[in-house]
Amino acid sequence: MKAEIITIGTELLLGNIVNTNSRYLAEKLAELGIDVYYHTTVGDNEVRIKEIVINSLNRSDILILTGGLGPTGDDITKEVVSEVFDAKLTLDDKVLTKIQNFFNQKGKSMSKNNIKQAYIPENSIVLDNDVGTAPGIYIEKNDKIAILLPGPPKELKVMFQNYVVPLLSKKSRYIIKSKVIKTFGIGESKLESIISNIINDKKNPTIATYAKKGQVEIRITAKAESESKTDCLIESAVKQLKPLIKDYVYSYNNETLEEVVFNLLKRNGLKIGFCESCTGGLISSRFTKLPGVSEVFERGIVTYSNKSKIEEVGVKDTTLKRYGAVSSYTALEMAKGLMDKGNIDIAVSVTGIAGPTGDTNKKPVGLVYIGFASKDSAFTKKINLTGDRIQIQNKTADIVFSEIRK
Ligand code: ATP
Ligand code: MG
Repeated sequence: MKAEIITIGTELLLGNIVNTNSRYLAEKLAELGIDVYYHTTVGDNEVRIKEIVINSLNRSDILILTGGLGPTGDDITKEVVSEVFDAKLTLDDKVLTKIQNFFNQKGKSMSKNNIKQAYIPENSIVLDNDVGTAPGIYIEKNDKIAILLPGPPKELKVMFQNYVVPLLSKKSRYIIKSKVIKTFGIGESKLESIISNIINDKKNPTIATYAKKGQVEIRITAKAESESKTDCLIESAVKQLKPLIKDYVYSYNNETLEEVVFNLLKRNGLKIGFCESCTGGLISSRFTKLPGVSEVFERGIVTYSNKSKIEEVGVKDTTLKRYGAVSSYTALEMAKGLMDKGNIDIAVSVTGIAGPTGDTNKKPVGLVYIGFASKDSAFTKKINLTGDRIQIQNKTADIVFSEIRK
């Protein structure tokens, strides 16, 4: 089964909106084991849409089209596809009532334009839209399928999941499944060179590396007739990779660094706290995005000024004067001071120079000290990062989570 995705909308061509529909559909079709050979984006133009549809039908079995199902004059997807499939459009009373009810429920009256949306091509299946007004369409003729879905991603996703997946799974012989392994502390080219023999060896599953925000992911993708077979293929690849990458892997289950830390603290019944300077609360903020984190997170304090470092966590005035706020001594006193507040098992502090200005000689931009304290030990780690202010803050947070995990 060969499929292609056709996204329709002049705003996509102009770059006014990001084409998230293509991405979503491509991922979902892969999961269904349907190969996607082309992505096309075309404006709201009858001639060009028709040209694309005819072309695509010549080379593919399934076309998935999104956008242009709305009530306005420039929404012409359904009209063009019906013409190409030689299917007459007729008013469907059931669909019309559904659209009317949609407006009634919202306390609005339906505009006359919307009647257009209730015209359905003959010999097609209507895909209900419970989130918006435009119904989707499934039309099949001479072993060629076109599936029309509305542009708004929220509507598209619900309809794809509810109606398109069941219709297409009947058509596909294969299941494609992916597994993501997440690594930290190694660059993409180095990681790739470590596992290049395995990458080059394998056709099924395929193995590829992706750099993502300072981290590198390994994606293993297997294709087989059943889910258990894809799982088997993936597991054997993981087994082969493990000895080579284990020092860098923080998750085999697609978790984030903070999720790994959260689970680790939970398993060990430990509580943590953060005292942040240059990250301004980012570490606490990222951590508290996880639901249920109150079980392991006691407090986060932002001590940005010297005064606050003294008042909030008892950093000594003399330490600040002698070594400065960005020093291992200050980081250590911040962590210990947070520890002294009680009710935590691990205190982590951060102080550094996020930039853009620093002292190029002694304390350059990107110099960061991380302090760790527990009941019976305390130590610091010095790191030198590159990037702009935001990148340095994000990398610092990544390193903090990665270090806690160790
Ligand atoms: P409507 O009934 O809302 O007019 P429609 O099916 O006619 O729906 P469009 O008018 O093409 O769809 O798009 C409606 C909105 O959906 C766009 O303004 C945009 O926000 C979003 N959208 C459309 N296509 C895409 C796409 N490929 N990726 C992400 N968003 C999209
Ligand atoms: Mg529209």
